[in-house]
Amino acid sequence: MTGPAELRAKALSLGFHRVGFTPVGPLDDDHARYLDWISQGRHGEMAWLADNAEVRRDARGPGILDEARSVIVCALSYHRGAEGSPMRGAAVARYARGGDYHNFFRKKLRRLAAWMRRELGAEARPLVDTAPMLERAWARRAGVGFVGRNGCIIAPGLGSYLLLGEIVTDLALPPDEPMEERCGSCVRCLAACPTQAFVASHVLDARRCVSYLTIEHPGPIDEGLRAGMGDRLFGCDDCQDVCPFNRTAPPPPEETAGFAPDARWRDVTPEAILAMEPERWEALAQGSPLARPGWERMARNAAVVLGNVGGRRHLPVLHEHAERVSGSSREAAAWAIAEITRRG
Ligand code: SF4
Ligand code: SF4
Repeated sequence: MTGPAELRAKALSLGFHRVGFTPVGPLDDDHARYLDWISQGRHGEMAWLADNAEVRRDARGPGILDEARSVIVCALSYHRGAEGSPMRGAAVARYARGGDYHNFFRKKLRRLAAWMRRELGAEARPLVDTAPMLERAWARRAGVGFVGRNGCIIAPGLGSYLLLGEIVTDLALPPDEPMEERCGSCVRCLAACPTQAFVASHVLDARRCVSYLTIEHPGPIDEGLRAGMGDRLFGCDDCQDVCPFNRTAPPPPEETAGFAPDARWRDVTPEAILAMEPERWEALAQGSPLARPGWERMARNAAVVLGNVGGRRHLPVLHEHAERVSGSSREAAAWAIAEITRRG
């Protein structure tokens, strides 16, 4: 008979590295922490995180699945060892170095859900960033990993460079044991953050986080946070790179081929982005996670990077950019010119 063991085996055979089961039901403590985080405004301009706040308490809310009984959490590692940024002169977060992960992750989840419908006669709704779920709370409760002080899900033996997705189902599955925090006395991630974005263990103020600032934040970046960005053009991995749980060997390269550095970035530099027309950037970035912020924010980030690590040879492109455009990238270019000139 086909049952939970076969379901788990099927998920692993599709390429997920960890799979956990947990019953639906209120996430009271996690939900209370989430509400407090929102009420403090720590989500910045990511207004969608405050939407459907009540639905996030449980996986049974309207729009997810009537008759939901279990949540299946699937994790996929994108860890590719010491491989560096695909771009010259700028750092790009690990998850964004290859193609758009949403596509192939969603495909795997859909294939698992289709198998469940066919083989188990189950209702199965796959979710990847499409429904209001507190997914790290579900991952912890399903035993996929624990929530580290850096707020990431850490799966012992696998690390924290993980993509998470859920399938909500009407099957009653045997629950896995929730995983409690295993950080011990370590505080490396809190100390490593270049912009001091952690208010406390597990509590991130996204408004100070380089990932938020470079990807989601509209308009100019607070001047006091720019130096902390260093050469980070898109995202940041520092609080994960220092984590001892990420010293584990990454999965074999063929399993993470979708995250291999994208060749299209090989000849792109921050100065090349500043010199581009917006249409050229949009065409170049299509199908990449780097498309998300749009050209103005990417040009703004590129100018901040040059303001931090550039030299006098970058002044012409910064001047040309400041004369050609308006908005936050112009302001950042003017700032970068002043920074480079001040350094002499
Ligand atoms: S991603 Fe970077 S900036 Fe954000 S909390 Fe982690 S270390 Fe700090
Ligand atoms: S760096 Fe240390 S404190 Fe931070 S998540 Fe990893 S183990 Fe926990």
